[in-house]
This record gives sequence, C-alpha cells and structure tokens, in this order.
Amino acid sequence: MHAASMLDQALIRLDEAARHLDLDPDVLEKLKYPRETTKVRLMIRLDDGSRKSFMAWRCRYDDTRGPTKGGIRFHPDSTIEEVETLAFWMTFKCAVMNLPYGGGKGAVQVDPHTLSKAELERLSRAYVQAFSKIIGPDRDIPAPDVYTNSMVMGWMADEYASIVGEATPAVITGKPIALGGSLGRDDATARGGYYLVRRLARQLGLEPGARVAVQGFGNAGQHIARLLAADGYRIVAVSDSKGAIHCTSGLDVGKLLAAKGQGSLTSLAGSDGISTLPADDLVAVDCELLVPAALEDMIHEDNAASVKARVVLELANGPVTPEADEILAKKNVLVLPDILANAGGVTVSYFEWVQNRQGYYWPIEEVHERLRTMMEREGDAIWALAQDKGITLRSAAYVHALSRLASAIEAHGTQQFFTS
Ligand code: GLU
Repeated sequence: MHAASMLDQALIRLDEAARHLDLDPDVLEKLKYPRETTKVRLMIRLDDGSRKSFMAWRCRYDDTRGPTKGGIRFHPDSTIEEVETLAFWMTFKCAVMNLPYGGGKGAVQVDPHTLSKAELERLSRAYVQAFSKIIGPDRDIPAPDVYTNSMVMGWMADEYASIVGEATPAVITGKPIALGGSLGRDDATARGGYYLVRRLARQLGLEPGARVAVQGFGNAGQHIARLLAADGYRIVAVSDSKGAIHCTSGLDVGKLLAAKGQGSLTSLAGSDGISTLPADDLVAVDCELLVPAALEDMIHEDNAASVKARVVLELANGPVTPEADEILAKKNVLVLPDILANAGGVTVSYFEWVQNRQGYYWPIEEVHERLRTMMEREGDAIWALAQDKGITLRSAAYVHALSRLASAIEAHGTQQFFTS
C-alpha cells in the first residue's frame, strides 16, 4: 500500500471527473481536503491485567449532503491516510446512491484476531468513549467494515446509549436485528453488486453459466458467491488471506462456507477436481467475472495485465490502483467501480437508520426491493453516462456523484452570487 500518496491517488479521480462538468472552483476547494480527522490513542486493559494502547481515528471527510457515514475497520495496517481515503470514497459513494449523507470512516490499528472476545468488547466500547462527541445520529454514523461485525456495532450502540443517557439506535448501523438492525444488512454489500450484475448482464455479456473468481471470502465474498451460484453462475476460484482454491467445473458454495467456518478453504483441495493456487494468482484465473472482495490495491500495475476476466466487480473499496485501471481499460476489461458496486452496504445502512428513526421495521422483501430499485436506477444512469461521454464506468460514477455534490455546494452560494 502506498500509504502516503493514497489520498492523492484517490483525488486524481476527482480532477478527472471535474473535467467533464462545468464546476464552480468552490466545489474542488471543498472536496480536495478532509474536513476533520480525529486521532485518539485508545487504552484498554487486557485479560492478563496489563494495559495496551491502540491508535484510532475517525475522519469526517465532507458533510455538505448530510451527516457523515461510513464504517469502522479493525486492521493492523490501518493508517490515517487510509482512513481519509476511505472517507473520501464514502463521500462519493453516498452521492452516487443519492443518500442524504456525507462521507466518513474510522479505524483502529489492531489485529483483532490477537484479542480475546472480552478484550474486543473493551476496545469497541473504548472507541465510542473516545469519539462520542464526534459521532451522533445527525452528525456521523459509523457501521461495520473490514474485521468488524454486528456484535461490535451492538457494543458500540450500547456504549453510546449509556453515555448520552438514552437509547439512540440511529447512531450506528449494521447492528444485530435484536438491537434495532435492519433485515438484509448482512448480505447487502454483495446483494447490491449482484443486482447490478443482473441488471447489466446483457450489456456485460455475463449471463448465468459465466465463470466467476472471488478474491476474499469475508462478508462480501461469501454472499456474492452464494447469490451468483444460486442463479447458475459457476464459481471457479475463491481465495482468502490463507490461500486459494480452483475448480474449472465449479465449486460447491455450501461446502466453501462450511470449510471457511472450520477455518480453511484449502482443506477442500484434493477432491472433486479442486486444486490449490497461490493466493496471488487468483486475479489471473481464466473466468468472465473477477470479484475483488478483500482490501485495497489488490490489482496493481504488476498483475493487471494477467487479468483474463471481461468484467471486474469491485466489492472491496479501492481494489484496483489507478495504474491498473489504465491497463484494464486498454484490455477492454469493464470495471464496475467500488463507489457503485459495493454501495449496497451503505444503502441498507441508510434503510436501517430510517427504520430506527421511524421506529417501524420493514419486511425483508421491502429491503430487497428498495435496494434493487436504487442499484438499478443509479447503475443505469452511470452506464448511460459512460456510453454518452465515451468514458469508463469509474469516471462516469465520479461524474454522476460529483454533479450531486456540486449542486449541494453551489446551493450555499458561489463567488458569482456574492460578488454580483
Ligand atoms: N463499510 C461499508 C462501506 O465501505 C459500509 C458503510 C456503511 O454502511 O455506512 O461501504
């Protein structure tokens, strides 16, 4: 990861999109810097009685369109640059989907696998104690991200409630259903990407039967494999941080989920025509659809040329570097960009927030139907924009989001208004 230049790299997309719009200079001045990033060293007591500290951040990148929204990740490689870049992407993701939110993100620099469950709870609560003045249902609304889950969100909501003295479920999304979570939030990231693939299947040449490789078998990777396999797509390879497996005739997703639950995908190798593969080789597997569903920068200038897929569905945030993007574009590989492709997660988070505020909970069918409608609406608009302007889907997604952000920024008055 090129941590120091990560935000600069992300900002290249902003400049690129700006070239397609007639923007007031105020817009870029507002969007090229994070508005505020708070850094706290969290201190918790470990089970053995000792104390340990962890760096933690929360960035509110831009709140022009509403309270800031975005997940909290627990990862040993997290940095302030990464948090600010992810918050920038959230700003654009929420605008792509027309959610009434700005963009935010948080992280704790920790490997959660080294903590006991009780230590993890203390760390989650310590995060909310440290950032309780920054978050709030009308200010900044966290959610799950890499290595955080609904239980962590439940602890955080509970800690917030005890600090402010009243139940405030809308302060955080991705909570357990029993604590005010929404039905359908668990598979929402994958489901949004799935609706997009199904909507654009004809244009993308991705009808059922097409071969799929999934990189990363966490929340997003597991659900996309399940949803696509149920429609007759063939999952030919999957990987996680420990390794990858491959099977040309297609893997049984039920068996994959069981093996992952027991700790190792690679335990399936050796039978049913399944072989192991170095995890790094997954991007080069012969298939029609490649789904990066792990971390940033997985497809980069040294491996982009080896991609054989016709389409890349970015369920992870930032899995393709700008250099790799150019290589893929030259090879006519279509990239369904993260700020659209994985926006199902934050969209159902928005539904959860709405339900919390209404105190009225929707059936799963309503969650799915609303998500499908929104993914199709924004997906169609971005597809049409890309065709119309002859630009990539990523550029089109940025132009689409930027025009919404620009309208909001310009509605406060531009230079012309104040000087004429
Ligand atoms: N962490 C997810 C993302 O990157 C979800 C954010 C949210 O639900 O607020 O989009």
